[in-house]
Amino acid sequence: MATGSPAPDLLTARRAQMFPTLSEAQIARVARVAKERVLAPGEVLFDEGDYDVPMHVVLEGAIEVVHLRGSIEEPITVHVPGEFTGEANQLTDRRSLVRARAKIRSRVLVVVRANLRFLVQTDPELSEILLRAYILRRMGLLAGHQGDVVVIGSRHSAATLSMQEFLTRNGHPYRYVDVDADDSVQSLLDGFHVGLADVPVLICRGERVLKNPSNADVAECLGFNASIEKGVIRDVVVVGAGPAGLAAAVYGASEGLDVLVLESSAPGGQAGSSSKIENYLGFPTGISGLALAQRALTQAEKFGARVAIARTALKLHCEGIPYRIETGGGEMVLARTIVIATGAEYRKLELPDLAKFEGVGVYYGATFVEAQRCSSEAAIVVGGGNSAGQAATFLAQSSSHVHILVRSDGLASSMSRYLIRRIEETPNITLHTRTRVVALSGSEHLEEVSWVDDATGETSVHPIRHIFSMTGAKPNTEWLEGCVALDDKGFILTGADLGTHPGWATRSSLARSPLHLETSLPKVFAVGDVRANNVKRVASAVGEGSTCIQLVHKALAE
Ligand SMILES: Cc1cc2nc3c(=O)[nH]c(=O)nc-3n(C[C@H](O)[C@H](O)[C@H](O)COP(=O)(O)OP(=O)(O)OC[C@H]3O[C@@H](n4cnc5c(N)ncnc54)[C@H](O)[C@@H]3O)c2cc1C
Repeated sequence: MATGSPAPDLLTARRAQMFPTLSEAQIARVARVAKERVLAPGEVLFDEGDYDVPMHVVLEGAIEVVHLRGSIEEPITVHVPGEFTGEANQLTDRRSLVRARAKIRSRVLVVVRANLRFLVQTDPELSEILLRAYILRRMGLLAGHQGDVVVIGSRHSAATLSMQEFLTRNGHPYRYVDVDADDSVQSLLDGFHVGLADVPVLICRGERVLKNPSNADVAECLGFNASIEKGVIRDVVVVGAGPAGLAAAVYGASEGLDVLVLESSAPGGQAGSSSKIENYLGFPTGISGLALAQRALTQAEKFGARVAIARTALKLHCEGIPYRIETGGGEMVLARTIVIATGAEYRKLELPDLAKFEGVGVYYGATFVEAQRCSSEAAIVVGGGNSAGQAATFLAQSSSHVHILVRSDGLASSMSRYLIRRIEETPNITLHTRTRVVALSGSEHLEEVSWVDDATGETSVHPIRHIFSMTGAKPNTEWLEGCVALDDKGFILTGADLGTHPGWATRSSLARSPLHLETSLPKVFAVGDVRANNVKRVASAVGEGSTCIQLVHKALAE
């Protein structure tokens, strides 16, 4: 079944917040931007798959909400007077995942999406009630696997893991059927005329069957980007929806700019692959990267930012303004200013058979999805940074044993003290210093790992089937090809770091130096991990993403 889902108990406890009743005063405020409608018993307000669904507040009667599993209707709730319809996609322009119908003769207020957006932007009290309910309802759909997608896959397939990660990280509920574990799978495959060799297969809204699709195919089928207008010159195009890009989107959109975000995979970036972030201000008990990303996305969309999913920036055309960004879909996106927030990607271990085992024994993130694959087996974490420490302590909760492998003499110079202490206090974690992985072997799945102890020169072979590679990152700057100045490691130079770089003088007709966070290309900014000399942390990415919007305003005014 789908993973990364919230615990059902938590949702039961928060039912009152999930389905709150608005007071008379609150309903009166909604009524100012709504129209009344009377519904006959059985009349459908909106159906699964509908776009542009308004919010409805029940004044009289009862509205039942159901999820369709094939021809079966699963009850979700019955809204009584004072309650309202909708969930997280109410603000995202995505298709409805449920059907809503009048149970008896009912009277409702209908709030079209533009007015709903106005309400959540201008009425803090209603905004809090509505957004909290929407996020919790989406968590409910995730926990119940109540989406419009079935994934048929195998736990031995890397492509299946990648599809699950894409859906999970986009907060899209799905039902998972494993060909190795579920007897009903053959009849399901026969029903859609596909064979076992075609997995992973995605059945999209009960209509289309996608065999081993790309992220872009899945996004297209689920209508993730359907409502984003093309050919518009945006005030600011943010490239990358990690913490830095999402922060830029929230601040840009909340300050009235027309913001489009391009994201090649799913919102959250590297932080989205963190099981728990414990050093981000305001979350004393920590927050999972996925939850942080989903909240930030809702916040950006509340203010009207558009976020295009599975849309990669392939090339920047930097001859003049508007700048043109060529995307994976063959489309040109036009921008007056650009915020580059493409972050970094994990470095890969230099091992001959690495590609063969990626996703089937070698992983680059340690979230619930990967932890489920490990089940209770032993695992190896390679790396000595904070991400490695988090992965090890998280995996130790479910794995029989976790081995941390580092090339250095210890963790003190690379990992936060609190994580080192936690590792020392966890009995099923062993730290191996001055140790390197030298070989991987197995047939369809990783079966054995060889490592060498550099202190003794001894190589040993271990029957361990899961290895988490957390060995630092390289910047995602290939798509910029000669448009902006980079340092010797490929990170983007900005502001004072550009020093006397000739790039600015060549390109700029402006009688000023580059602004802080501005690249060598005028009105193009870089924030977060992709920027040279950035502190590689969630808080600094968020800080830079938000402050750069002040600079974008300045650039737009020139
Ligand atoms: C496992 C793990 C755990 C971590 N834990 C912590 C922690 O506890 N605390 C902490 O402070 N920091 C932590 N970090 C570091 C932190 O996550 C990063 O510093 C932060 O995510 C950087 O944010 P960013 O937005 O700059 O870049 P990223 O998070 O890297 O996001 C960049 C985004 O850009 C997208 N992208 C890339 N290229 C393109 C393109 N061409 N077109 C469109 N989109 C593109 C990517 O898909 C990605 O979503 C952790 C990192 C990892 C990997």
